[in-house]
Amino acid sequence: MNVFDRISVDDYEQVVFCQDRASGLRAIIAVHSTRLGPSLGGTRFHPYPSEDAGLEDVLRLAKAMTYKAAVAGLDLGGGKSVIFGDPATDKSEALLRAYARYVDALGGRYITAADVGTTQLDMDMVRRETRFVTGVSQELGGSGDPSAATAYGVLWAMKAVARRLWGQTSLEGRHMAVAGVGKVGGNLVRHLLEEQARVTVADITPTAVDRAVDRFDVAVAPVEKIHALDCDIFSPCAMGGALDARTIPELRCAAVVGSANNQLADASSAGMLAEAGVHYAPDYVVNAGGLINLAEELASGGYHQDRAYAAVRRIFDTTASVLNQAEGEGMSTAEAADRVAERRIAAIGHVHQIHTAFA
Ligand code: NAD
Repeated sequence: MNVFDRISVDDYEQVVFCQDRASGLRAIIAVHSTRLGPSLGGTRFHPYPSEDAGLEDVLRLAKAMTYKAAVAGLDLGGGKSVIFGDPATDKSEALLRAYARYVDALGGRYITAADVGTTQLDMDMVRRETRFVTGVSQELGGSGDPSAATAYGVLWAMKAVARRLWGQTSLEGRHMAVAGVGKVGGNLVRHLLEEQARVTVADITPTAVDRAVDRFDVAVAPVEKIHALDCDIFSPCAMGGALDARTIPELRCAAVVGSANNQLADASSAGMLAEAGVHYAPDYVVNAGGLINLAEELASGGYHQDRAYAAVRRIFDTTASVLNQAEGEGMSTAEAADRVAERRIAAIGHVHQIHTAFA
């Protein structure tokens, strides 16, 4: 891949290749945009089949973080990093600390967090070499695992959709189908039952289903049928690509509101959903609660859960605003979310050009 050609397409600011032979570290840090503030995004540790595959992934993910932070109203830009290797066998203290030194060398232009293949404990290790890391343990002044905050944000996105569809924010008596009851899905089910909703779950991992049934009063559906359930809201909380040419015609819900990243299989999915009369709340608007929670660690005075959760509740307003814009401008909700992000980056990016003295 010609890297300069590739990164000029979406106007990436900086891509850093990091290697440390002694620890085996091979990593790429991508900073897509710092127009709204320092870039923030997780560290993915994955055995990519090729360097190009890792580079393509880190670029895609960094750009997505720019849009997610912008729509969420944060003073943050978008970045991401990938470490090449198998986290089960290649991860070591030396490798993580070497990686952290490269993060530190960016002077705060990139702030990291946990992602697929890395954990809160890994971020605690990274913290030993740099302060530019979030999602560290509460004992270190961090906010810990962001999944609970993500689930809380999904709940408030559902309330925004409920108000639009049924004129009220209450979810009482509504039937919700949750696909994937892991860290986010499990917390979401708890919130939904507190709201007196009726919940059906599905998960490919039998122990995850067992845990949900033990903890909660929920019905269970087969994984391959959950999206086709006759329900009010379908909530994909597992892997990406849940909404494709096969599943969309089978949907029997009024809306899709879930935490999974990249729910639309391809560019045609948004249009297909609109044609099917299904209201789609864009994934990165809905699942920003974890990022909003991480951002609170950077606030002056450190992390406070009450303040963080108040910020997460604003996902209600951002979801409502994206749905309104989609209707007002005759575009899909996915496109509307992108436009909201781009307009905010342009507007606030312009504000940042107003200077006082030499600042
Ligand atoms: P997790 O690994 O804890 O849970 C995912 C669950 O989905 C697991 O129980 C798994 O068995 C199940 N699953 C996998 N494939 C499935 C399938 N085809 N059908 C049904 N179930 C399936 O992950 P998580 O942290 O709960 O994240 C869930 C989704 O939300 C992911 O797409 C993640 O990228 C996204 N997300 C998570 C956060 C967060 O704070 N954790 C933030 C933003 C986005």
